[in-house]
Amino acid sequence: MLCGIPGLSWAQGAAAPEPQRIAVRAARLFDGKSDKLLPDAVVLIEGSTLQAVGTGLAIPAGTRVIDLGNVTLMPGLIDAHSHLLLDLHEESGDGAMISTIVQQSTADRALLGVKLGLEMLEAGVTTVRDVGNSGVNGDVALRNAIQRGWVRGPRISACTRALAPHGGQFATLQPAAQDLIEQEYVTLSGVEEARRAVRQAIADGADCIKVIVDNGHNLLSVEELKVIVEEAHRSKRPVAAHTTTDESVRNAVEAGVDSVEHGYSLPDDVLAPMARKRIFLVPTEGPIDQCDSLGAKLGDAERQRRMRERCRKLITKANDRIRRAVAAGVRLAAGSDMYIAIPGLTRGQASVQGFSAYVEAGVKPVDVLRAATLNAAELLRMQDRIGSVEANKLADLLAVEGDPLKDIGALKQVRFVMKDGQVILDARSPEGGRAGLQ
Ligand SMILES: [Zn+2]
Repeated sequence: MLCGIPGLSWAQGAAAPEPQRIAVRAARLFDGKSDKLLPDAVVLIEGSTLQAVGTGLAIPAGTRVIDLGNVTLMPGLIDAHSHLLLDLHEESGDGAMISTIVQQSTADRALLGVKLGLEMLEAGVTTVRDVGNSGVNGDVALRNAIQRGWVRGPRISACTRALAPHGGQFATLQPAAQDLIEQEYVTLSGVEEARRAVRQAIADGADCIKVIVDNGHNLLSVEELKVIVEEAHRSKRPVAAHTTTDESVRNAVEAGVDSVEHGYSLPDDVLAPMARKRIFLVPTEGPIDQCDSLGAKLGDAERQRRMRERCRKLITKANDRIRRAVAAGVRLAAGSDMYIAIPGLTRGQASVQGFSAYVEAGVKPVDVLRAATLNAAELLRMQDRIGSVEANKLADLLAVEGDPLKDIGALKQVRFVMKDGQVILDARSPEGGRAGLQ
């Protein structure tokens, strides 16, 4: 194989194939920018790129036409907070996480990511930002495999191991467990360790930096966070900050991170600086009716009731902080934080269902769609390539039945998915919609 004339391959001399030309027609288009739907939409695609978008555009001869009929076409969705290499079957406690680390190699988890990634793609999520809990850089391996065309999955912005204060995200572990923690987190103390951790992440292939600001026993300081932001931004990587308390979100916002993840507690004094610094909030709670399925395996009806009530209270409080944030001018980017198996739903379906929870918090459906497209694209620093349906962007498309601007539930009715100009799913086709690897 290597003994031939350097640079001469079997394919040499053959003309490069013409890029495929496709026209997608749909009754309605949400382009990601306008608040209104465009009727009788035509999207012209060449290779992986959108060439033109408009109402009733003329379709050049020799173009393959995909007429989707009475659907709403829109940009492929973006999940800014995914965990494709984690699939727990119980939500609370460290036990499930510890057994994952102990029993599954990073290779195992990357292969799990192939399965869950495909489920995301088939639900219309064409890009994710995967924010840690991926073993030792398994997210980078999965991202690269998808980029190389080895497997089919969403475009991945990979954060590698999350940076964290000592202890990672575990409750107390014995000192002997330090190796185990380092399989999942890079723990740091002090500004030089913070700097080193970011540089290590970038060397490991990170597109973004995830930092756990509070972990229940330790809290990173503003000085440590500032160095993390400075190093990440020097390499043009955004910083995603996991915060759950008033102190941690204040530190993160003061240090100038790019997004507050969860932000379950958002005191009023951080909202104005968040809006001014254009820091996104990535809320990650699910719809309130998810509480109803909690504790289904518990025989004890009283415990079940208490658990569900607590869940409803938590979500109601969380919805309140979304309302306050939006009123203060803070922009949202959609993030599912889905890492558990939800019975009856694929990972993609469960993740998209999470976005509809923002409507329960009073966010208009069009703003939910924007949080899951254009805003998330900006947060990922990919807004020149994805997030809207317009000329020169990548051909990432989703079509759903109905009108998601009126009823966000329409996102469940997926009819068509395209990524990079390749048809992933087409419900009109007799094979049941799934397209094979091309
Ligand atoms: Zn998460």
